[in-house]
Parts: sequence; C-alpha cells; structure tokens
Amino acid sequence: MYRVYTLVTQTADTCMPSSQFNRLTTCLAQTAQLLPSSCALCGESDENILCDACRSNHFCNQQMRCSICALPIFAPSATDTESPPLCGECIATPPSFDRTIVACNYVAPADQLVLALKFAHQLMLAPLLSNLLRDAVLGNVNQTLPDLLTAVPLGQKRLQERGFNQAVEIGRPLSKQLGIRFQANLLERTRETQQQSSLHPDARHKNMRRAFVPNERFLEEIKGRHIGVVDDVITTGTTMNEIAITLKRFGAIRVSNYVFARTLPH
Ligand SMILES: [Zn+2]
Ligand SMILES: [Zn+2]
Repeated sequence: MYRVYTLVTQTADTCMPSSQFNRLTTCLAQTAQLLPSSCALCGESDENILCDACRSNHFCNQQMRCSICALPIFAPSATDTESPPLCGECIATPPSFDRTIVACNYVAPADQLVLALKFAHQLMLAPLLSNLLRDAVLGNVNQTLPDLLTAVPLGQKRLQERGFNQAVEIGRPLSKQLGIRFQANLLERTRETQQQSSLHPDARHKNMRRAFVPNERFLEEIKGRHIGVVDDVITTGTTMNEIAITLKRFGAIRVSNYVFARTLPH
C-alpha cells in the first residue's frame, strides 16, 4: 500500500492524471477497500485510519510558522516575542488574508493523504484531514475563530472530472468540529483557470485575477464578518489572496485560511 501511494505521489507530482495514472488510482481505491483496517500512511494494522505513531510523528510537532502565510520560520524575531511571527515576504508585501493555519507541510508522507483523497477518490480520508486541521486550529493561541467557513470553489470542468470538491469535503466536517457554520457556495468561479501548479509564478496572479465572485444569495453573510476559507494545499497563496481580496471587497473584515498542507519553497 505504501509503495502504491508513493507511486501515486511521483506521478501526480509531475502531471495531471494520465491513463496509466488513472488505472493506478483505480487499483489503489479498490485495494484500499479490500484491506482490513489499517493506517493510511504506514499500512500497520490499526483500528484508526491513522495510527498513533504516524499522527505524532507527522502532525503533532507544529513548527513555528508565519502567522499570515504559514511558511515555517526558522529564525524567530528576537525583539518582540509577543507579536505573532511573520516571514520577510509578509512583512514586505502583506497579502490580503490575515491568517493561515495548516496541519502540516506538503511533504512525504503527509502529502499522500491529499493525493489519495484527490486523485484516488479516497473520500473517507476527508474527515481525517479535517480532524488534523482542527487540532492545528485549536492548538493556535491568539486567534479568533471565524463567523463563517467556506471552501475554495473548483471550476465547473474540474468539478465534473473529479466529481467532488476536496476543499468542501474537508471544510464540512471541520465546520462541525469547530461549531462554525459552513457555506460551501459562498463563492463562485467566474471562469475556468489554468492549474496554478502548471504556471510560472509570474503568471499565477494574472491567471487568478478576478476569478471569484460571491454568490449573490450570500452577500449579506460576508459584510462585517470574519470568513474562514478552507482548502487542501496552499502553495504561493495566490488563489487564497484573490479570494481574500474578493471577500474584503464585499465587506469581510477579516479572512483566515484553514488549509491542510503547506507547500515549502524549493
Ligand atoms: Zn501509521
Ligand atoms: Zn508569511
């Protein structure tokens, strides 16, 4: 199981699913259903979907992160330990969102959970990702929880291809666990965008610009509110920034991101 997951990782890292990749993920999905209860990461027999060892090894040791973009910070500011830690990029060019909380870095083996959810349709993993994210949220001090949670919307084409929006699948149980209302359709995509990971960093902003609008039915839910935005992975933050710009343009007073995994800079 572990080797299959690793193969999924390598394939999905470089391209959209090929026919070989589709066969592989189908095989993975079928295999997972046949296996007895076992840890999704190490394959050890366990009544939980993630064993205690994997949970504590990969998710419990939260490192110091920039409070705005969640990039790991290795040299904390020595001058003001009371202030939330910030990375140089967020000090120089603050994004429109105010906070990002993540459960882990997007590195092996934790990335396999995202890949299995997205590309092998392992929807049973969504509550686990949400549970790990909830622990990260509640482990963060000096924060106010949002009034409302939503999810990064998928384009119509990708939604039809995949059949589900992984951000919604993570966000819905997270809202229950945190006791915060979830509005999956708060935002809509105005158009299909190219996959951000396929673009040069300079082209990503243009690709996402004005890509979202609030659903007209929910405009009043944005005004004066602190909105939490859920997604599976944050990379450059361009998508989350465009969403925060949109939400604030329509009156949100604060935008926090709740994302399962943080991609590290190369
Ligand atoms: Zn394990
Ligand atoms: Zn930062």
